[in-house]
Amino acid sequence: MASRRALHIALMPGDGIGQEVIPAAASALRTLTTSLPHLSFTFTTLPIGFQTFTETGSALPDKTVETLQKECQGALFGAVSSPSHAVKGYNSPIVGLRKKLDLYANIRPVKSVGGKAKLEIPGVDLVIVRENTEDLYVKEERSFDGGGEIGRVAEAIKRISERASRRIARMAGQIAVRREEMRGNKKGMVTITHKSNVLSQTDGLFRSVAREVLTGAEFAGKGLVVEEQIVDSMVYKLFRQPQYYDVVVAPNLYGDILSDGAAALVGSLGLVPSANVGDTFVVGEPCHGSAPDIEGKGIANPIAAIRSAGCMLEFMGEIEGARRIYDAVDEHLREGTVTAVDLGGKAGTAEIVEDILKRL
Ligand code: ATP
Ligand code: MG
Repeated sequence: MASRRALHIALMPGDGIGQEVIPAAASALRTLTTSLPHLSFTFTTLPIGFQTFTETGSALPDKTVETLQKECQGALFGAVSSPSHAVKGYNSPIVGLRKKLDLYANIRPVKSVGGKAKLEIPGVDLVIVRENTEDLYVKEERSFDGGGEIGRVAEAIKRISERASRRIARMAGQIAVRREEMRGNKKGMVTITHKSNVLSQTDGLFRSVAREVLTGAEFAGKGLVVEEQIVDSMVYKLFRQPQYYDVVVAPNLYGDILSDGAAALVGSLGLVPSANVGDTFVVGEPCHGSAPDIEGKGIANPIAAIRSAGCMLEFMGEIEGARRIYDAVDEHLREGTVTAVDLGGKAGTAEIVEDILKRL
């Protein structure tokens, strides 16, 4: 019997369809407690995003960060709209949040379920584990006059540290082992992605530290298969044979690109969840943005957000709760007769939610 756990979860719908899909994710968590009575949730809604910026002058108010740090164990974040032109004083609040809470891993499970998404490639079941704090994203750029014919020159720092590489590799290894357990005896595999044939120092460090961690004492005897692959050939194989991959660990930029590419394999952005994970906090976040083109129409697909609630639970250690959410969504996609608009059907957000909750 699992021990009782009362979780205080922050809801940060943000802008656009975030307002429509985050309540759906919260209702999935509420419904879960009827079959898992050891779990209970209380929710606090917190302001974040562009609308909040126009109202208060800050996209990520101090009070939001303080409440997250002092009162909550996890959070669900919807989306923020990015204005088409640069607005003075406006910075992406999710980037700020990742820094403030040290959410150093961005985790994206991409799975096809043999369902009704027309563009779905069958048999895909992989997780991209992206380092989230360094690489080219340290944003240390400069430009100067190169003189003569060269003209202007711009350069950016790509920073890779042992600490960040170590902790992201550990996270990838732990995910692979857990997936092994969740799937029965199917072997866990981690593929280390890099370009160390060209960037021997930076990517070379990432590669060697990741390999050392994954083949080291912590994972000895766990049956992990550790492979590595140069990022360009990885892209090729990801598109030719995506079924091959299990857990992919990558530095920030490659992880960013690979995870959008991988999302395309399962048919719609409206299906793909993510979790921003640190050592003490987890924020679930659908991969899509604020989707202004469908905002307010009641047709946003809530699945990415509901699966993100599952991811949040998984990384908070509530594996059974996570599994039930994933299974209910998979069953809905495989067997349901209610199909979301982005998958070619007619059903609105409310109908999809109802069908998934029924299966929880
Ligand atoms: P943002 O700047 O906030 O990212 P965007 O205009 O790039 O907004 P996205 O949210 O990234 O929009 O979505 C890209 C496309 O996918 C849009 O056409 C959008 O309608 C569609 N889309 C995204 N999420 C969903 C969803 N949950 N359900 C249905 N369609 C979606
Ligand atoms: Mg977008």
